[in-house]
Amino acid sequence: MPKTRFEALVESRKRSHAKIEETGKRSELFGKNVFNEEKMRLFLTKEAFENVKSAIFQGSKIDRKIADQVAEGMKAWAISMGATHYTHWFQPLTGSTAEKHDAFFDILPEGMAVEKFDGAQLVQQEPDASSFPSGGIRNTFEARGYTAWDPTSPAFIYKTTLCIPTIFVAYTGEALDNKAPLLRALHAIDEAATGVAQYFDKNVRKVHATLGWEQEYFLLDKALVQSRLDLVMTGRTLVGNLAAKGQQLDDHYFGVIPPRVLSFMSDLERECTKLGIPVKTRHNEVAPNQFELAPVFEEANLSVDHNLLLMDVMEEIAERHNFAVLFHEKPFAGINGSGKHNNWSLATDTGVNLLSPGSTPMKNLQFLTFFVNTIKAVDTYEELLRSSIASASNDHRLGANEAPPSILSIFIGEQLGNVLDELEGVSKGKLSPQEKTELKLNVVGKIPEILLDNTDRNRTSPFAFTGNKFEMRGVGAKTNCAKPMTILNTIVAKQLTDFKKEVDALIDKKNLKKDEAVFNVLREYIKTSKRIRFDGDGYGMEWQDEARRRKLSNNKNTPEALQVLTSKESVSLFKDMDVMSEVELKAHQEVELEAYVFHLQIEGRVLGEMVYNHIIPAAIRYQNILLENVGGLKEVYGAAHKKVAEGQLNILEHIGEHIMEIKSLTDKMTEARRRANNLSTINKKAQAYCNNVKPYFDTIRVQSDKLEKLIADDLWPLTKYREMLFAK
Ligand code: ADP
Ligand code: MG
Repeated sequence: MPKTRFEALVESRKRSHAKIEETGKRSELFGKNVFNEEKMRLFLTKEAFENVKSAIFQGSKIDRKIADQVAEGMKAWAISMGATHYTHWFQPLTGSTAEKHDAFFDILPEGMAVEKFDGAQLVQQEPDASSFPSGGIRNTFEARGYTAWDPTSPAFIYKTTLCIPTIFVAYTGEALDNKAPLLRALHAIDEAATGVAQYFDKNVRKVHATLGWEQEYFLLDKALVQSRLDLVMTGRTLVGNLAAKGQQLDDHYFGVIPPRVLSFMSDLERECTKLGIPVKTRHNEVAPNQFELAPVFEEANLSVDHNLLLMDVMEEIAERHNFAVLFHEKPFAGINGSGKHNNWSLATDTGVNLLSPGSTPMKNLQFLTFFVNTIKAVDTYEELLRSSIASASNDHRLGANEAPPSILSIFIGEQLGNVLDELEGVSKGKLSPQEKTELKLNVVGKIPEILLDNTDRNRTSPFAFTGNKFEMRGVGAKTNCAKPMTILNTIVAKQLTDFKKEVDALIDKKNLKKDEAVFNVLREYIKTSKRIRFDGDGYGMEWQDEARRRKLSNNKNTPEALQVLTSKESVSLFKDMDVMSEVELKAHQEVELEAYVFHLQIEGRVLGEMVYNHIIPAAIRYQNILLENVGGLKEVYGAAHKKVAEGQLNILEHIGEHIMEIKSLTDKMTEARRRANNLSTINKKAQAYCNNVKPYFDTIRVQSDKLEKLIADDLWPLTKYREMLFAK
């Protein structure tokens, strides 16, 4: 442990807040370090500029000659900004980002030093990536991976390095990262949604998914974090007696932001703004020392990159302010954990939000089409969507009565619920002129353009419609949004594709008008997807029972939740939508299961170390003090000491019992780990860790927390909850 509790407390109390100069307007800072359209116009040839634009818009390929021109322009810009290095910036399956820097600097054969960066280096690189998880895809040594430029996410300069967003794939083409499947899913939703949007507006050429995340996090003094072995190694406190005060007074939520934190936030926001991350909102969250940051929403791929970049930048800026950021979903027991709401919608290149009700019945029919299809998609693939947010750390949160339950359901609010109920009554086949008028005037026409105030009421729903977007609330604070976004966009793409086929068939074969056909298909979807709609209390026990009756999945832990990834239905869905092959699905599942096992293994080891090397020794030290005291009392009082020392003897006894108990539980946990490690498949290992190892974490914790309550404060080695959570 780098610091003792007492050193850390002294250090943390000496801090003062840094002064951040807010020079220049934020709008002037925006994108300063990004190779965006404005820079491209300045630094690229017209031909190169147009090629990049069309790659972004149509996904067209950029040939080698053009890539050379783009590289030349990027290099000139980067060097003018003081950059010395470049890197391909990618998202291996570990969940964070990876980079390997190369200098622009090079020596020509004649010995002359130059700054070099060409198309080949821009387009493709081969990191020595043999240590990244690949779930068996790269099990032969020839099959190495390479990174390839993603022109849809602009390059940026961080410190002195030009960062080029890339995908990471095996030579055989399989994705070794989270970005490649996301890009394929976004392509699928573009195709499917554009086809459907054209029913309503022939001019639509492209639909992109939009994402606005809301990032929750804890911010703690760096010294205090460093004093806790568990926080440093696992990101959460494995033991710790709850403080007398938690969040029950709600006095932190939306309260005044402490000055030290405000300095950190301003500094962070300025850095983000320069990097083109459109940060907008900041506030205190529910738990003490918990905060939230949210940007303006963006195209989903860019938004995912920006969230990952934000997390990297946050850690660095926090360090500058002597803070440490905790992204773990449940760093502290007994108070709220952190999530990352994913607000999602679909937008056309004509500037229309497809999940926003409009001012005319036709616009509302378009809205209803996308709205009902999303509901239907989530209903069909609820278990798959749940799997996208599964992780060892998020397991602590889902279903813990503060975050949505592990059952997926959709909240749409009463008003839209009524509209769907009415649509359920639409006649089969052709509609009479009266019925059409009635529908247009009184049902579809009555949806108010602004629904915001009528919806966002149910905070317990994992998938809520909030006026002009859906909000997925179970995503973990640490999770790469690419995972839920890949699955959500894939399932909606599949649903819209099926919808279009059905509508077209009704038009062609049954001679229905387009709006009649749409009404007919939507009616059936509304009927068959009812079970996913739930407006009640998602935290209640009744919902668990009701969900079982509705045959909704309720996978409470990661090993269970991940099984569905390789089911027959999932494999054919991802194949149909060209998003992931069976090999990739298996590999990604394996990597997730491995990560689960590693997380629990590390937690188990750290807990064992804490018990044997910190907690038991502290208990023994206090025992010795008590024993010395009792011995002294015996000398003075003789046989009467038993009465005089009754309290001490009683505490001694309790400490003895807890030492016995915590030691025995820790030994059993270690034995359970040993047995789990010896199992033959990753699936069995993950299940054993989940069912046989993890339960000990809680029972060990109970013993440790009891000891913490008994032992003299000056002897307790681990920084306490009240010290971590209420230090400002
Ligand atoms: P809260 O959940 O904290 O009450 P909101 O529900 O207003 O806040 O969430 C705002 C978030 O929703 C922001 O991150 C914003 O970027 C995002 N958002 C708003 N409109 C859209 C949209 N059309 N597509 C995706 N995200 C959106
Ligand atoms: Mg929200």
